[in-house]
Amino acid sequence: MAGAVAAIALHRAGRQPHLYESRRPGAAEQGAFLTVAVNGLNALRDLGLDPARVLAAGFATPTLVLSNGRGRRLAEFALGGSAAGGTATTTIRRADLYAALRAEASALGIPIGYGRRATGFTETPAGVTVSFDDGGTAEGELLVGADGLRSAIRAGLNPGGPRPAYLGLLNAGGFTSRPVAAALDMTPGVTRMAFGRRSFFGWSVAPDGTVWWFANPPSREPVRPGDFTPQSWRAHLIGLFAGDDLPAAEIVRATGEVLGPWNTEDLPSVPVWRSGRAVLIGDAAHAVSPSSEQGASMAMEDAVTLGRCLAARAEVPAALAEYERLRRARVERVVAYGRRNGSGKTAGPIGAVVRDAMFPLVAKVMSSRRNPDGWLLDHRVPRVGEWRQAASREDGPGGT
Ligand SMILES: Cc1cc2nc3c(=O)[nH]c(=O)nc-3n(C[C@H](O)[C@H](O)[C@H](O)COP(=O)(O)OP(=O)(O)OC[C@H]3O[C@@H](n4cnc5c(N)ncnc54)[C@H](O)[C@@H]3O)c2cc1C
Repeated sequence: MAGAVAAIALHRAGRQPHLYESRRPGAAEQGAFLTVAVNGLNALRDLGLDPARVLAAGFATPTLVLSNGRGRRLAEFALGGSAAGGTATTTIRRADLYAALRAEASALGIPIGYGRRATGFTETPAGVTVSFDDGGTAEGELLVGADGLRSAIRAGLNPGGPRPAYLGLLNAGGFTSRPVAAALDMTPGVTRMAFGRRSFFGWSVAPDGTVWWFANPPSREPVRPGDFTPQSWRAHLIGLFAGDDLPAAEIVRATGEVLGPWNTEDLPSVPVWRSGRAVLIGDAAHAVSPSSEQGASMAMEDAVTLGRCLAARAEVPAALAEYERLRRARVERVVAYGRRNGSGKTAGPIGAVVRDAMFPLVAKVMSSRRNPDGWLLDHRVPRVGEWRQAASREDGPGGT
């Protein structure tokens, strides 16, 4: 998604971007669904895209309700109110979001080369050449590495550099429209998350009644291909939720295809984001834990910021330096925030007692502040005149 949004942003900045995607058209996208927060929606709007149109296949989820494994409600949070134009935090299938963003890029005449996996690049002061695994190359004045967590462009900029860090949690997900016997609250717009006794679980009910869910089973070791079969993965999840006063086990049982397992990883600090003619954006530069629910929104903010920098600075290297100055402190703060969110999902039995006892107090303090996540969700991609102030604000102390 960083690539598609960046291509649109560069087009708006008067450049002629080309998108290259390693997958073939129609290839199954990995992952189930994700939530685009209001700051991501605002970034799309700042680019002249209508979030309501881009995310039409999703549904609004502006409220989060947290409970424990006994079904006791711990807290309720507003996920940032409405973005400019009225769209609220939206949950959408990953494949639908990719398709919508690529359709927006195609509608602008931006060419998309599918089935082309970038393997490396070379550059001169005047331009850059990217090579692909089909033996071909492409030339341009700038290479934007938006190739995700295992970025080949990042490896080129950071030989021997950092690799994604495993965070001790696995991911599962799925969709089911089969009836679930447990009484499910069908209130629209509510995402429910629960600290099950052995695993974290989250679910929302879409307007058509389908339940969209995910689970984060703890695991000391990352999962490797072949560790689970579809049957053993399903059985593992059902076993983890046995005895919880949650609908989790039933929802998993009712699901035709249980997705995953995936490892939960992040990428805290990548030393080199740019050279004179190449730059990293999105997960390639700074993958945040899914527990922050911010990876997509960070990718969108990056892309819009890069477009603004390229529109304002005639020289590509100067634009890239400005982009990094505006983005690095903010995204690293979000990575830290995601790690903190994720670590609460793996509390042991004693930690869980403390967490449950403290939660009402923490929630009260947070809700007594007007917008506890203001630094995160109220963020707007700064315009040229706001750059100096914006960079120093992000560098300042803080964090929630
Ligand atoms: C289980 C899970 C749940 C998540 N939930 C959320 C959530 O609720 N909210 C949220 O905001 N974020 C969430 N995230 C994070 C979010 O998915 C990522 O942050 C986001 O996808 C980053 O976008 P990106 O475009 O940078 O990378 P990607 O979405 O990974 O896109 C990279 C693209 O590059 C292509 N590619 C890869 N290598 C090459 C190459 N060498 N050459 C050419 N193309 C290449 C890939 O095929 C892909 O299309 C979640 C992540 C996971 C794993």
